[in-house]
Amino acid sequence: ASRFEGVTMAPPDPILGVSEAFKADTDAKKLNLGVGAYRTEELQPKVLDVVKKAENLMLERGENKEYLPIEGLAAFNKATAELLLGADNPILQQGRVATIQGLSGTGSLRLAGAFIERYFPGAKVLISSPTWGNHKNIFNDSRVPWSEYRYYDPKTVGLDFDGMIADIKAAPEGTFVLLHGCAHNPTGIDPTAEQWEKIADVIQEKNHIPFFDVAYQGFASGSLDQDASSVRLFAARGMEVFVAQSYSKNLGLYAERVGAINVICSSSDVATRVKSQLKRIARPMYSNPPVHGARIVANVVGDPTLFNEWKVEMEAMAGRIKGVRQKLYDSLSAKDKSGKDWSFILKQIGMFSFTGLNKAQSDNMTDKWHIYMTKDGRISLAGLSLAKCEYLADAIIDSFY
Ligand code: PLP
Repeated sequence: ASRFEGVTMAPPDPILGVSEAFKADTDAKKLNLGVGAYRTEELQPKVLDVVKKAENLMLERGENKEYLPIEGLAAFNKATAELLLGADNPILQQGRVATIQGLSGTGSLRLAGAFIERYFPGAKVLISSPTWGNHKNIFNDSRVPWSEYRYYDPKTVGLDFDGMIADIKAAPEGTFVLLHGCAHNPTGIDPTAEQWEKIADVIQEKNHIPFFDVAYQGFASGSLDQDASSVRLFAARGMEVFVAQSYSKNLGLYAERVGAINVICSSSDVATRVKSQLKRIARPMYSNPPVHGARIVANVVGDPTLFNEWKVEMEAMAGRIKGVRQKLYDSLSAKDKSGKDWSFILKQIGMFSFTGLNKAQSDNMTDKWHIYMTKDGRISLAGLSLAKCEYLADAIIDSFY
């Protein structure tokens, strides 16, 4: 008998489980639109040229593998806060940002979860309905209570702005409001600039604490600055803000696990104390973060030539996704004789499209058509090629009706 008889089988992860099922499928037509990872038009993973160049530089310099400090690589922390807020942002000169390197977006969110649990006992996090599946896991494991605010309106396939504002207003004072900085996952629907202002108004009125998850900076508009405008708007109002960042998508550093948690504070004194406590949380969890990806980011963001080259590659990736988005829309509109308006696909931004397919219809996509996707009807356009758009459109129409 095993001492582990009481250990039951855990369910597969709803997102990463999709990739496992895809791998097991032997059909030649199979297509993986589950995980949000960028593929080339040939559906191959992509290592950015600027990443290769930065790695070559690192090799030439003969960088060592000594431990980083608990807070991570200093050059990375400087670069990441500058990328987020703009290098000339006075908040940085004032030393008001506590930044520590985290284990990509997930690990950075988890650090913040632990910080909230420790310093804001009983405070709740409000998350959008729907949201990235792992948000709920992260706050559950951090023992931070959460509830949802309305976000997606199935009737308009758009933002339920009034519902969102009403729910943020109704939350008890001092609630953490989790916002997707850009390219909302899974819906692909972002507030407009005017709507962001109103969201900031309500959060300020209610003395809530905004908490941005920025996992797609550059992937929404193709511009790194434009995609940080939501965060910058809140910061410019003098608010205290949490921001988790990830370089998985925009630099394609998925497996390097590089990101950061930034806490914008009201003074440098507060920021110093907050940073000391974030380090205290990190130390017994993983001691210190990995160096390789952080060096890549520091080299790319810190070198004007590489930085400009990154922007060009970023625009090209965002542009390829816009291209398949258009082609998918064209294919659906041409094939679907029902008169359904598919233009919501063009309005959505970022890596994903929220198709409106329900669970049974999503199952049909996989079981009959070998198209792998999450069961909430989300497809990752980053895993789609122009050549596969017609096939995908056939599958969607077959599954819908
Ligand atoms: N936040 C959102 C909204 C995401 O979609 C993702 C990745 O899919 C992440 C955070 C974190 O990803 P990672 O831990 O790879 O940086």
